[in-house]
Parts: sequence; structure tokens; C-alpha cells
Amino acid sequence: MAQYAKPPQAPPTFIGTKDNIVSDTKALCDKTRSVLDKLVAEILPNDTHKTTFEDVLLPQIYDENQSALTSRVLGFYQYVSSDAELRNASTEAETILDEFAIEMGMREDVFKLVDAVFQKKDRLNLDPESLRLLEKERKSYIQNGLSLPEGPQRDRFKEIKKRLSQIQIEFQKNLNEENGGLFFTREELDGIPNDLIDTWDKGTGENEGKLRVSFKYPDLFPAMKFATRSETRRKIFIANENKCTRNSALFKEAIILRDEAARLLGYPDHASFRLEDKMAKTSKVVNDFLDDLRQRLVAGGKKETEHLLEVKKAELEARGEPFDGKYYLWDARFYDRIMIEKEYSIDENKIAEYFPLQQTVAGMLSIFEKIFGFVFVELKAEDRARISPTGKAEDIVWHEDVIMFSVWDDQSAGGEFVGYLYLDMHPRQGKYGHAANFNIQPGFQERDGSRWYPATALVCNFSKPTPKKPSLLKHDEVVTLFHELGHGIHDLAARVKFSRFHGTSTVRDFVEAPSQMLENWCWTPSQIEALSGHFETKEKIPRDLVEKLVATKNVNGALFNLRQLHFGIFDMAVHSPKSHEEVENLDPSKLYNELRTEIVGFTGPEAQGEPSTWGNGPATFGHLIGGYDAGYYGYLFSLVYSTDMFYSVFRENPMDEKEGRRYRHTVLEKGGSQEEMKTLEQFLGRKPNSEAFYKDLGITA
Ligand SMILES: [Zn+2]
Repeated sequence: MAQYAKPPQAPPTFIGTKDNIVSDTKALCDKTRSVLDKLVAEILPNDTHKTTFEDVLLPQIYDENQSALTSRVLGFYQYVSSDAELRNASTEAETILDEFAIEMGMREDVFKLVDAVFQKKDRLNLDPESLRLLEKERKSYIQNGLSLPEGPQRDRFKEIKKRLSQIQIEFQKNLNEENGGLFFTREELDGIPNDLIDTWDKGTGENEGKLRVSFKYPDLFPAMKFATRSETRRKIFIANENKCTRNSALFKEAIILRDEAARLLGYPDHASFRLEDKMAKTSKVVNDFLDDLRQRLVAGGKKETEHLLEVKKAELEARGEPFDGKYYLWDARFYDRIMIEKEYSIDENKIAEYFPLQQTVAGMLSIFEKIFGFVFVELKAEDRARISPTGKAEDIVWHEDVIMFSVWDDQSAGGEFVGYLYLDMHPRQGKYGHAANFNIQPGFQERDGSRWYPATALVCNFSKPTPKKPSLLKHDEVVTLFHELGHGIHDLAARVKFSRFHGTSTVRDFVEAPSQMLENWCWTPSQIEALSGHFETKEKIPRDLVEKLVATKNVNGALFNLRQLHFGIFDMAVHSPKSHEEVENLDPSKLYNELRTEIVGFTGPEAQGEPSTWGNGPATFGHLIGGYDAGYYGYLFSLVYSTDMFYSVFRENPMDEKEGRRYRHTVLEKGGSQEEMKTLEQFLGRKPNSEAFYKDLGITA
């Protein structure tokens, strides 16, 4: 391994303090501002000699590349630092950077220079990635309202943008601070595991003797899955759909303002404005996609519901309770669980025994070594000290739990350095609570043509090992880990010129596809077996257990996808009203409820005589306000691509080294540096289609 001992580039350090995080951030902004000020001072928009890509764009890009090396680290502490003050400073840093980006994005003086270069783009002989950057850069100014004439229209546009950004912050804050719940007696909570109930708050006063179910997922989901009494589930479901009432007005205001802003810029609606840059390009493509999917799923959804109704009937009869023939929204999680337990007899804890964390990670990395030609070299304390810029091993990780690798091309590919990979696997106080991949430093081409190598981190929350047992992964956690590692690999494999196109910086309706594709490995029997090893006996997972597991992949899959479709269709509907009046008169909750009944088929309080205006569903989740506006479809969209890629290329042999390397170089390496559709077509050798997706779900046309 001697050839891998000394990476040609030192790793980033994590030695920020609460004082220097904010001042470093401000210094970064000042530096960027001075680059722009210098440009506009030295070049006039009508100067035909100097309005070139080299003179106008490159200085900005070099600054952007260098800034990213520091700014992402500054913003990263808020997710992983054990020190609350450091986390706060990091959040503040991110706010400063966001506000600064908005301010710079509205600079008319810089826009005029960029536009002058753009106007002669056909004569500049630019390489495709540079041309793409120029077009995107100009577009972003236009989307910020700079194509509007100075005066009332542009002022109004700016005002809307500002308000929308406030709404987004407020909406998310309300969600974060949401603290509602309901009190129930022990009898009403029948069926929910006692060790969970015992952790719930005990009521006092009028709630004496009762226990409180909160709307947080770790309470809510088990309650909906296990509470035997339908009335209890009904109460929780409806109360949960009524939480965050304050967000209702904000949601409505946001869709009205978005519509107004899009119309100001000359778009027919907000969806058209948002989709232009995406893979889908137009609302028609998205709506056709969603409609087609819906039509194909309807029959499957009906069949699944009929079966679930039988399960419900039998369960109620066994308890001597009446059955009214309806399947309610609050039945879904409950009977889904009962059905899987009864018909598949899957014991998820038994399966977990075959997937101790450390060994599973090692297995996954060796899959990536084989098919993509990487080499992962773990860096222990003495290695870290050797390569640390400060000479101290602890300065190049943010916490002692972090596992660190240097990543290389294997010898057959030249043995070049690829970048750094970090794994931060266990929960701790104040740490980010889900599983995600964070880019810490992007890769790009330096001014002299040499390469800057990326650094990327996986931040997850798998249970900690105990003295008796290692951390054991449930199968859905194995899938999550592989998914997030997939983003990490995408981030490491990229070879682009400009940092803004690096790795996972692709359009949002594509970015999940590479990771979704890798999830298929975790549903392939040969791969599940290869990854497994019992934590005590080291035995591979038995074949019959694998088969049972694989059989559950698409259980109630039509219904699952119809629920996703409901969000996607609702999202498109509120963001493409035919007129501005239409959005002003829209009742989001009513539309949300009606579409859900129509698409998914489950009934709600409407079936019990209440009006369909109940609840405020759109106010209870963050996606449509937090960046997935006219974008929710993207999850299903990229799933179609990922399944197409898997079925066409890897299904027969997921360990095909030739195809793996071809995938790495045609898809992963490109990042966002070219049209994602082009990337996909180059890999598939044809246009993508939905056949594999339907086949996987067991639906044929
Ligand atoms: Zn993902």
C-alpha cells in the first residue's frame, strides 16, 4: 500500500472556533465583493475587447472555487459539532452567505458584463462546460428579476423575493418548533408497545392518568402502526393534519406571490419558471409523466386496497368489532404492518444480526472498489498525524468517532488520488438527525490546469455499539447507507472544470438517480448474501430469509407510489393555476384532501360527513416551501431513470466491472457539467423510458 501513503493534497482542517467562523465568513464575502467591484471598475459593458469569458467570468469562477473550499466547512459545523456555540456560529455563517448570495445575485452592474459576454457567445469558441456556465450565470440574474425594467416592476419583484425568503424561514421555524400532541388513556393506546408508551409524558390536572403522544415521527409512526383502536388512530391522524396552523396562511401567501413573480417575468405560471432549467423542462412533460403513472397505478392500487380491506375485516371480526367496508387514511400504517407480519413473517431484528455496521461498510466499499475501480485506504491516527497540515491527527476530523479514508484509482486506472471520504455514523447530542451526504470541499480544475480533489462526508445515525453487540443495521438502514454512500461516490467520482458543477450539483430531478440505482444492489439476493455475515457466527444470511426479504420490496407498492403521486400532483396543481385569480381563490387544504381521496382512494372524515376543507395538510410538511416547489415529482422522475439504468445495464450482473467503470466515467464523472438528459442518453445508448420502472412494480402496460 506504499503507493497510497501520501495523498498529493492535504485534507481540510476542522479547527474553527465560535469567534473565527463568523469573521472568516465575512472575510470570504468581502473577498468576493472586491472581485466583482474590480471587474465593474475595469471593464465597461460596451468594451468589446474585455467582455470575454476569460476577463469577465473566469475571475469570478476562480473566486467561487476557492471560496467553496472554506465556506462549505464553515457551514458544516452546524450539523456535526458537539459544541452548541460552534453550531450557532456555523448557522450564522450560513445565513450570512445566503444573504450575501441574494445581494450579489441582484447586481445589475455585473449582470450587464455577463450579458455582454453572453450576447456574443457563438463567436467565443467556448468549450461546452464554459458555455453552460455562461448560460446558467446569465439566467440566474434574469430569474432574479434583472431583465425587468428598473422601476415599479423590478421593485415589486424584489419585494416578493424578499418576502418569499422570509416565509420560507418562518415556515420552517414553525415546523421545527412544532410541539403538539394528544393525551390518551392507557386503554386508548392499546396495541402500542409498552416500552415506547413508558417514555411518553404523563398528564397532570385534567389529563391525570393519561399519556401524551407527540407528532414527532418516533412517536407518531409507531402509534399509527400499532394502536388497535381505530378511534385513537383517527384522532391522532386528524390532529396531526391540523398542526402548524400558522403555516396555512404562509403557504397560501407563498403560492400567490410565486404566481405573481412568475407572471412578472413573463412565464405562464411558477411551475413553468421552475421547470425550465430542470431535466423535465416543461409542465407538460411533468404532468404527462404523472398522469401516465397514475393511470398505470390505479388498478394496482385498487387491488392492494381490496386485499387490505380483507385483512381489516378479518382483524375486526377477530376482535368482535363492526366493519363498515371502508379503508380510512388512519388505517394505512396499521393494516400495512399487520399484513406484512402475517403474510411475510419477516423479523427485521433477525435480519439485522447479519449486518453489523463495520463489516457492512467494508463490504459496500469493496463493491465500489470492484465495479468502479476505486481503492479506499483507511487513515488511522498515525496516518492522520502524518498528513495533517497542523501535524495533529485530531485537527483533520470534527469528532473522534469519524472514520476517514483516502480514496484512489486502482493501479489499472493509473493509481491517481481521488479525494477524501469521511463516515460519521452514530448519533450524539446536537448532531444532524437524519442520514445525508455533505460535500465538504468540491473538486475542480485549478488555474494552472491541475486538479483540486474533493472531500465528502456521510453523516448518519445508526445505533451505537454496546459492549455486547456491534451496531446492527436493519435492512432499511442497509439501503439508506448504500444510498448515501452512492451520493458520496458521485461526489468523489466527479471530474469537472468548475466547482459549481461538481458531483451531486446536478438538477434536482436527476440528483437522486445514481443513489436510487445503487439501492437495487440491496435488493439483489447475491449482493445481500455477499454483504452479510452474522455478528456472532460470521455465517452468511440464509437463502430463505433473503427470499422473504426480497419479496417485500414492492408490497403495496402501487399504493406507496400513489401517495407520492398525490404530493406531486398537488404540487403541480398549486403552482400552475390558469390565472392569477385562480390561485387567489384556491383553498389549498380542500384541494389537497380531494386530490388525495381521488388519487390514493383512502377516505377521510369526508366519508363520515365532514366537509373536505378539514385539516391543513399543505402546512404540515416543508418540501413545497423549502425548495421542492414544482419539484416534488423529481423523486419519482429520477426513480424511473434509476430503474431504467439498473435493468438495462446492471440487473444481470451487478458486479460487471466493465459496465461499472463505464457508468463511473459516463454518468458520475460528469456531475452537472452537461445536460443531465445527455448524460443519461450517452449511458443508455437511447432515450430513457418507464418500462423497467413498471416492470419492477409488477405492472405491465
Ligand atoms: Zn438521496
